[in-house]
Amino acid sequence: MAPEAAPFQRAKRGGNPHGRAIISAAHLADRLPVIASDLGTGVEQLGGMIAAAATIVPFTGAGISTECGIPDFRSPGGLWTRNRPIPFDEFVASTDARNESWRRRFAMEPTFATARPGRGHLALASLYRAGKIPAIVTQNIDNLHQASGFSAEHVVELHGNTTYARCIGCGQAYDLPWVRRRFEATGGAPDCTVCDEPVKTATISFGQAMPEDAMRRATELAQQCDLFLAIGSSLVVWPAAGFPLMAKNRGARLVIINNEATEQDDIADLVIRNDIGEALGPFVGN
Ligand SMILES: [Zn+2]
Repeated sequence: MAPEAAPFQRAKRGGNPHGRAIISAAHLADRLPVIASDLGTGVEQLGGMIAAAATIVPFTGAGISTECGIPDFRSPGGLWTRNRPIPFDEFVASTDARNESWRRRFAMEPTFATARPGRGHLALASLYRAGKIPAIVTQNIDNLHQASGFSAEHVVELHGNTTYARCIGCGQAYDLPWVRRRFEATGGAPDCTVCDEPVKTATISFGQAMPEDAMRRATELAQQCDLFLAIGSSLVVWPAAGFPLMAKNRGARLVIINNEATEQDDIADLVIRNDIGEALGPFVGN
């Protein structure tokens, strides 16, 4: 699959090349109801699927981090509805936009710096240590999978990482304390000491191309697993929302854990519509 040029596009029902049309009718015939009747039943069914699986690939969204105090920026009332996100081209073109972007990031630092992995993160880290999970795919930028025990090379970040910075020209990495010292010393957003291009959080902004390497790795992981866990994502944002479908089309079982309905519930083998910490807590340490 070719990476989409623009991230954060909303899925169009039935109008996407990776959408429902390629799920054959046979997949959907004679299906039993898949939404777990209660949390205990869902946990038990999930436990059976985890035990039976050789290769599990989790895909995580904002919902796994809300119990860690990280807000869901896209939710109603979330930061992005009060503070318009700064598109990439504006960041590049405008000193004021770069300064505003960094002021907002510094304001969020107490939240990101104090966040610790939640039960969902810890449960997935347990399965990773047990050798069931080769790598994890995430839409989150909070670094909490790494903090829970995943090696950084085994976290595929579709939207980047906000806990450090990079030069948008040469890619040189910088830590946030360096950015802050330079900002305070000069009164504005710093440029790269190597090539003089702007330094930005290592995230993917609106209008910025999806990271090709992360997209390729996520595609491979989705196509090679036998159990795909979609956790804490409403699965409406393309291209990320295509991964559960890719896994399903390659014969994997699909489990969706989210406290609200998602766009892909009707193709899942199991839906646990509960709090993520509650649903995954029983798997911590197993
Ligand atoms: Zn540079």
